[in-house]
Amino acid sequence: MWLLKKLEQYILSGDQAKSLARSERSRITLTIYLCALWTVLLSFYAITDTLSGVFYALPAYAFFILSLLVAFFLLKRQKYEGGKMLLIICGDLIVFYASMADPIEAGAIFLFIPVSMCTFAMMDYREIKKIFLMIGLVILLFLLSYFKIVDVDVPTPSDQYVQISFIVNFLISIITCSLILYFLINLNFESEKSLIDKELSVLAKNDELEKINKELDRFVYSVSHDLRSPLSSILGIVNLAKHTTNIDELIEYFNLIEGRIKVQDEFIKNITDYSRNVRIEISPERIALQPLVLEVIDSLRFLPGASSIDFQVNLNENLTITTDRLRLRIVLSNLLSNAIKYSDPYHKKAFIEIGAHLTENKATLYIRDNGIGIAPNWLPKIFDMFTRATERSSGSGLGLFITKETVEKIGGSLSVESTPGEGSTFFIQLAKGVVSTYEKKLESALPMHS
Ligand code: ADP
Repeated sequence: MWLLKKLEQYILSGDQAKSLARSERSRITLTIYLCALWTVLLSFYAITDTLSGVFYALPAYAFFILSLLVAFFLLKRQKYEGGKMLLIICGDLIVFYASMADPIEAGAIFLFIPVSMCTFAMMDYREIKKIFLMIGLVILLFLLSYFKIVDVDVPTPSDQYVQISFIVNFLISIITCSLILYFLINLNFESEKSLIDKELSVLAKNDELEKINKELDRFVYSVSHDLRSPLSSILGIVNLAKHTTNIDELIEYFNLIEGRIKVQDEFIKNITDYSRNVRIEISPERIALQPLVLEVIDSLRFLPGASSIDFQVNLNENLTITTDRLRLRIVLSNLLSNAIKYSDPYHKKAFIEIGAHLTENKATLYIRDNGIGIAPNWLPKIFDMFTRATERSSGSGLGLFITKETVEKIGGSLSVESTPGEGSTFFIQLAKGVVSTYEKKLESALPMHS
């Protein structure tokens, strides 16, 4: 078996062989095996005949072995059709010769059955005309040998030889037919399996596309709504402002307009972040975490409520991570601005802690706050598009969706733990090395944090 495998690898090592369809490759493998089997059988008969002093069949054996070697050569040169046809014709002629040389009682005639089955197994359904042509040849050869039309001058064999030949020929026929049937059933099973696999993968892709389509519909609807609504309220406020000359009232209207513009600005920033994350190539670089976090905190200092929060950055100065700077900045900025937005106004000592747990090849950053927290029923949904889990939200509900997408794009994962009234902790799990899709898959199979 090992030798057969080696022979198969040797013959099917060409470029064309690599691009063969699975079923065609199996058929050529079968051709190689049959070619090898017949070469061995003929060589065996030639040796035993020579040892028993019977020489009349040797030229025929030599001719057939030579033809089989030519078939091997054709297969190796990737002339598969030629190789197969030669093997089929050679098989027909071997059986024809055996049934002509031996008396009918020796049963060589049985061998026409496996030879016909081999023709079916080795050829493609699309070559049905050739198959029937070959079967016609088998029938012709059978009739010629049955009626002994061609006279072969060979010595009459003994009764014992005839008896043994009958048993051997019968057994070879049954075994070969069973093997060919097994091969055909197996081929059928493999094709069905691959069809089912393909169908399943098409169905999965379809589901995914449907989901994306629905998300897109929702996105387009909400984007158009969210883009218009601050503008409508600004227009309303401007109309009101036109009817007053009271300076305090006007200042109040300006404040309201400013608030609406900030909401609009944040929304547009979210959309820009999203499109950047989708479009811009990942460019990993070595990043010192502590300076980046301090830089982001600094950029958020002017958010309402930020000045009364105690920021605790528990990151080692030397801690570096190789990832995409732009995306990591978006993630930190979104999570930190949320921690500020949703801080608890009734808490005397509001804090936000930023730290990291490290393992050999992973870094888990965490952002912990003692803000208002998230109700358990909202927790599974907060990473979805347009989810606002509290009345306090004046945003678009896009921030965490974009944050999660961004973390995943750089091969990481995002998770949260939260208790209402006590606070929330967001965990960003990242590979410490260069990110890749493979790592992303591995990461998603691992627990979120230790
Ligand atoms: P937005 O802030 O625009 O509402 P996000 O997607 O950023 O949208 O957040 C979704 C929801 O998750 C928020 O409406 C809020 O209820 C909740 N949330 C996010 N971060 C925090 C946090 N640090 N503390 C409490 N709630 C939070």
